[in-house]
Amino acid sequence: MPEGDTVHRQAALLRRALAGKVLERSDLRFPSVATADLSGRTVTEVVPRGKHLLIRVDGGPEGLVPLTLHSHLLMEGLWHVYPRGVRWRRPAHQARAVLETAAAQAVGFDLGMLDLLPTAEEDDVVGHLGPDLLGPDWDRGEALARLASHPSRAVAAAIMDQRNLAGIGNVYRSEVLFLRRLHPFTPVADVPDPGALVDLAQRLLHVNRDRAQRSTVGGPARRGAQLWVYGRGRQPCRRCGTPVTESRIDDAELVPGEPHAGPSRDRAVWFCARCQPLP
Ligand SMILES: [Zn+2]
Repeated sequence: MPEGDTVHRQAALLRRALAGKVLERSDLRFPSVATADLSGRTVTEVVPRGKHLLIRVDGGPEGLVPLTLHSHLLMEGLWHVYPRGVRWRRPAHQARAVLETAAAQAVGFDLGMLDLLPTAEEDDVVGHLGPDLLGPDWDRGEALARLASHPSRAVAAAIMDQRNLAGIGNVYRSEVLFLRRLHPFTPVADVPDPGALVDLAQRLLHVNRDRAQRSTVGGPARRGAQLWVYGRGRQPCRRCGTPVTESRIDDAELVPGEPHAGPSRDRAVWFCARCQPLP
């Protein structure tokens, strides 16, 4: 599942392929943007914001309004870059966006969201985001203040609320809570050291940004052993052997502006009841 680390890696890939290059062709296959044509415009920058990806283009030779192509990977989305003429590794019907330069094609498969807006109005789609854990402008104090502003909220909901801090998804939330020995339903006010929690999340996202296989267990791990509790319901805790608990948490009020995979915003969280007791 794409989280902040994936989005930053994707942005770097797209930046290398597109930044400074003129688009010779664009094909956007989302109803809201299907008629848009970006050909002739130059890609100026590719920016990750939390789990959102912003591809900025200039006004082109006609001096039109600079635009931002805004995408969100949601659950299954992924951008690939190919040299022109090379066969795609995923079926064409999954492609939601194609951006073509003289040398390369960037193809967005199964994107969860795609829209186009004036660059000057980016705040409309990402302005709600809190400090980005992987951003150059990461503001730890601001993130902690935002978390603390709702002291009775369950920590598992609070750290995934992209308005508090951006970049943590469902995988990292379960993993950081396990590593900090925090029960997911602990009220934010009862978290002994919120700074350490946030620092750990940032460290994990950083070490995984340049890795193909995400791991939270420290160092290289064999396939299937890279995570402590995420997705491991009823399997033995890697620390104490107690069966891992899978629970649901209502994220309903926490993600305005964030797309969601299904109608229900009840999402799973995994934890070890023994290693992570309620305070
Ligand atoms: Zn345990």
